[in-house]
Formats: sequence, C-alpha cells, structure tokens
Amino acid sequence: MANRPQVTRTVSALRHALEPYRRAGQSIALIPTMGALHEGHLTLVREAQKRARRVVVSIFVNPTQFAPHEDFGSYPRRFAADLNALQEAKADLIWAPSAEVMYPEGFATRIELDSGPAKAGLEDRFRPHFFGGVATVVTKLFLQVAPDLAVFGQKDYQQLRVITQLAKDLDLPLKVVGMPTVREKDGLALSSRNAYLSAEERAAAPTLYRVLKTCAARIKNGAGIERMLAAGRAEIEDAGFKLDYLEARDAQTLEPVRSPEFAPVRLLVAATLGKTRLIDNLGV
Ligand code: AMP
Repeated sequence: MANRPQVTRTVSALRHALEPYRRAGQSIALIPTMGALHEGHLTLVREAQKRARRVVVSIFVNPTQFAPHEDFGSYPRRFAADLNALQEAKADLIWAPSAEVMYPEGFATRIELDSGPAKAGLEDRFRPHFFGGVATVVTKLFLQVAPDLAVFGQKDYQQLRVITQLAKDLDLPLKVVGMPTVREKDGLALSSRNAYLSAEERAAAPTLYRVLKTCAARIKNGAGIERMLAAGRAEIEDAGFKLDYLEARDAQTLEPVRSPEFAPVRLLVAATLGKTRLIDNLGV
C-alpha cells in the first residue's frame, strides 16, 4: 500500500509541504476537484503523474460557484473515501482548505472574464454566477500551489476553455492540460452528481451521449447542423429531460458555427433530469 498522502488545510501548511519539492527541483501538477472522486478524477491523477514528479489534488466544494438555489448543501462530500482513493493512486499531497481559509472574513476580490469562452451563451446563460466563482477559486488555487501544470477534464468543456483563457490572459506560469471524458459503459459521463439519479433517471441518462454521438457522426457526414441539433433536442426532451441547450460551437472559441468545414466543431449539451443537472460534450 502506498503512503498516505499528506493532507494540508492552511495556506502556510500547504506551502511548507511544497517546499521540499521545490528545493529538489521537482515539477508539480495540480488537479483541482470538488471531491466525491471517481474514475474520471483518478484518470487526471494518472495523467498528471506522467507529466510531473509530484501531484497535488485539491478538494474544495467552492461555495462561490453555486447559486443559492443550486446543490451546494447537498453536493456529495466523501473525504475519507477520497483519501483512500488518492492513497491508492499515489497522489503526493492533498490540499483541502475550509471555506473560511479560502474566503476569510472580509474577502473582497473576484476574477471575472468579460468576453470570449466565458460568455459563449452556454453554461454562463444558465449559471451566470458560475465562471466568476470558478475563475476566482482556480486563480487562488494556482497561486497557492504554484504548479507547473494543472490537469482538467474535457467533461467540463466550457470550463476548460475558460481556464485556458484565464491562464493566458493573466500570464499564469503554468500549462493547462485537458483530458478526455471518462464514461460508464453505456456512455454516461462519470460525474459526482450521477449519485443523485434515481434508477429510472439513471436508465434515461445515457441519452445525452447517444444524441451527441449520433449528431456528431451525421454532421461529420455532411448533414446540416441545425437540422441535426433540432432532432437531437427533441430526442433529449422525449427522454424526459428539461433541456437547457444542445449547441454546435467552434471547439476553440465556442462561437456558433454553421459548418464543420472551417473549424473543429464541438457539440455541447446541458439538461436536467428530475433534480439532477447533467452536462456533456463531444468533438465532431
Ligand atoms: P469536479 O470535482 O466535478 O469539479 O471535477 C474536477 C475535475 O475533474 C474537472 O477538471 C473535471 O472536468 C474533471 N472531471 C469530472 N468528471 C470527469 C470525467 N468523467 N472524465 C474526465 N474528467 C472529469
């Protein structure tokens, strides 16, 4: 069994724990998470281990990226199980600050992106507070850990584009790496929120990926994008979802596209099943 990774809970303890790595000239990768770890997260850990000598995993359910009506209170928190999984995966260090450590009394700064991928009219349209919260906490995590690279999942595709933009705009001295989505056998993207699904909802949930796959294949073969999206939207709603969006966007800028001829296209979807909001995406 691997050594238990060290758990740090204050910024000074974190910096103290990182000090020997830096002194030894060891590269450091950071994987930001909200815990309730699954195979998707662990895939990021393994990729990070290939690219850096030391792997730091942060576990922080960030209150500032949830709106009052969202699931901050009920978001799954399973720290003991996460610690076991990260021990098995041989992560080096866990950064698990409390909300008070992250946002002490009097905290007053927020990082907002004014344009570009954060304002693409996808997640930002339905969760207007979301990317400001994400950008603020991720900037803090980057400054706290000062990693050489940070690994994110393509599962949260717009978020990955936003963080890439943020790192570029602020000249943050690290590389942002995106990794493909890890899925269940039936195609459902792994997500900590899948735990909310009832058996019946779980059976309907793979519809999202099935629609993405069908649309992507047909668009690739020359079918009209708008016609395919309309059919996809209907199929998702027929399966019992409340659809927020199913869109085809430029994979880089997330701007609307009419044809896959000129730029790589990404299909992105968000829809709610019962009380659970699911997102997914796929390249054409
Ligand atoms: P979360 O804990 O949901 O905030 O996710 C932490 C990181 O894991 C983010 O970079 C996510 O994009 C990534 N992630 C979540 N689910 C998956 C998945 N199914 N496959 C790959 N990466 C994922």
